[in-house]
Amino acid sequence: MKRGPYASRWEPVLAEVDKSHLRAATRLAMSGAVRARVWDGDGWRAVVERSGTRRAFDVWLPKLADYAGHARDVARWLAMRPDWLAAHYAGEWDESFLEFLSAHQVEVVPTRETVVRLRALSTCTCEETDPLCPHVLAVLLAFIWEAEGSPLAAFRMVGIEVEQLLDLVQEETAVLAGAAGASGRTDVPEASGGLWAWSPEEWWEDAAVRPLGRIRPVVRSEIRP
Ligand SMILES: [Zn+2]
Repeated sequence: MKRGPYASRWEPVLAEVDKSHLRAATRLAMSGAVRARVWDGDGWRAVVERSGTRRAFDVWLPKLADYAGHARDVARWLAMRPDWLAAHYAGEWDESFLEFLSAHQVEVVPTRETVVRLRALSTCTCEETDPLCPHVLAVLLAFIWEAEGSPLAAFRMVGIEVEQLLDLVQEETAVLAGAAGASGRTDVPEASGGLWAWSPEEWWEDAAVRPLGRIRPVVRSEIRP
């Protein structure tokens, strides 16, 4: 299992799944057996091939939460924290970004409910009775590993595509720059001494200027493929 700040957040979740399934899933994901991932609005369909055979299994992985309606909020965070955006482009997780997502319970960072949701809703065409079979886990691992080296890709698991997010960040950055220019305000992110002047901690404490409340995920447990 590849380790990094993001994958580490998944370790408590993955500790709850069958160990032999996880080992098999790791082999499958590392060998590139996970193919043809397609978003269907409620989750991801994927094909997991078996090496040495012609068999392949159809997997369906539910979205972890529904943040499609919150894409602009996420973009606004990134517009206010260009360092978080820069980390994404550098292919690294900024620890404060990870902490921020965790504190806001944005479910790209797994919670205890994540494994319950995955077990309840995931499907696979193999004969395994455990819903968290090696194929379902292989698809999950592929997403986790992808997000390890491309942080914003984690939002694919809650229904926001990277390209869409980056387009919105560009728009929100322009709005911020426009607001700063018009009012002469200095409380938008600016580099000062190599540090970003804005900090999420101050943002949280001052409700009056807090641009958004905690965004609440929309989880619809009845969703099935
Ligand atoms: Zn399976």
